[in-house]
Amino acid sequence: MSEDKAKRPRRPATELVHGGTLRSQFGEMSEAMFLTQGFAYDSAEAAEARFKGEDPGFIYSRFSNPTVFMFEERIRQLEGAAAARATASGMAAVTAALMCMLKAGDHVVAAKALFSSCLYVVEDLLPRFGVQSTLVDGTDLNQWRDAVRPNTKAFFLESPTNPTLEVIDIAEVARIAHEAGALLIVDNVFATPIWQQPIKLGADVVVYSATKHIDGQGRVLGGVILSADEAYVNDHLHNFLRQTGPTLSAFNAWVLLKGLETLDIRVRRQTESAAKIADAIASHPKIAKLIYPGRPDHPQADVVKKQMGAGSTMMAFEIDGGKDAAFRVATALEIITISNNLGDAKSLITHPSTTTHQRLSEEARLGFGITPGMLRLSIGLEDPDDLIEDLRLALDKA
Ligand SMILES: *Cc1c(COP(=O)(O)O)cnc(C)c1O
Repeated sequence: MSEDKAKRPRRPATELVHGGTLRSQFGEMSEAMFLTQGFAYDSAEAAEARFKGEDPGFIYSRFSNPTVFMFEERIRQLEGAAAARATASGMAAVTAALMCMLKAGDHVVAAKALFSSCLYVVEDLLPRFGVQSTLVDGTDLNQWRDAVRPNTKAFFLESPTNPTLEVIDIAEVARIAHEAGALLIVDNVFATPIWQQPIKLGADVVVYSATKHIDGQGRVLGGVILSADEAYVNDHLHNFLRQTGPTLSAFNAWVLLKGLETLDIRVRRQTESAAKIADAIASHPKIAKLIYPGRPDHPQADVVKKQMGAGSTMMAFEIDGGKDAAFRVATALEIITISNNLGDAKSLITHPSTTTHQRLSEEARLGFGITPGMLRLSIGLEDPDDLIEDLRLALDKA
C-alpha cells in the first residue's frame, strides 16, 4: 500500500477529498473496499512480529482494516486530532468514549440536554457500574463548577443540543474541566466538523454519529471518536475497542469515506438554506418561537459567534396549538418527510416529544424545553424556495 503523498498543510475541503488515502499496487482512484475479516502472513515469523507490534501491518478487522483506517485518517487530519477510531454507530462511540476511561467510584458531570440514548448511558448505565453522574444546565457555567467532586473524571456535553439547539461555551467548560483534572468529551454531531472543531476549542475527546451529516444520504450507521492526545487512546480506548468489538464494517467505512468527500459542500449548502428558511418562517403567525443558531435572537448568539463558523443545518420551532397543531403541520408537508434522522440530503421533520424523547417523563421534557408543540427540522439539499413553500402551506393548516 502506498500513502497519500501530501506534505504541505491543506485546507479542510481538500483534506476531505484526499486525506488518509492508501493505494494498493493497482493504483485504484476510488479507495478500495477491503471486505476481509483478516490478513495473511508470509511466514510464521512475520505473524509473530505483527502480533508483537514490531511490524505495523493489519491483523484482524476487529482491530483495524485498511478501508476503516482511511476513514479514520481522513477525519483525524480534518480535525487536527492525535488519533481517531471508528465505531459501528454514534452510540457505540459515545459509550466507548466514556466506558473506556471510567471505573467504579468515578464521577461524571454532563449537560442534561443530551440525545436521549446518551442520557441513558450517563443516567442509567454508568451508575449500574458504580460511576456516579450529575446533570447540569450546560449553558450555566456555575453549575459545571458546582458539580465538580474530588472523583470527577469526565465532563460530557453536546452543542448545539438535540432538539432545542442550545449552545454551550466549549472553551469555558474545557477550562473548568481541566481545573478539576477531568477530560471534556464533546458530542459534535449537530455542529458538524465543518462549523465547529471542539479540539481546537480545548476539548479532549470528540465523538460523532457518522450516520448523520458524514454519510448525509441516509444509508449507513457509523461513529468515530477523536482524541486530542495519544495518551487517552493508548491508555484507555485502544484496548477497550479491540477487546469489546464495536467495530465499523469496511463496507460502511467506504460509504462514509465517500460521504466525507462531499461533506463540505453539502453542509455549506444545507446551512445556507436553513438560514434562509429560518428567516422566512420565523414570523409566521402560527410559530410561537423559532430557535436557529444563526439568528441574532438565538439565546446564546454570542457563544455561537465565538465558537461556530456558521449557524446550523437544523432548527426547532414551536407551533401555537400544541401537539395537535404540530401533528397537523408535520402531516401536511409534501416534500419534507417525517423521519428521525438528521443531516440527510432529504429534509426531515420530527416531533421530539412523541418520538426521540418520548422515553422521558413529561416533566423532564419540559425541563429541556421540549414542549408538545415543538418540531425539529433538518434541512436537506432541495431548493430552499420549495421548502419554504412546503412549510408555509403546512403552517396555514396548523
Ligand atoms: C444520532 C445521534 C447519536 C447516536 O448516533 P447513532 O449513529 O444513531 O448511534 C448521538 N448523539 C447525537 C447528538 C445524535 O444526533
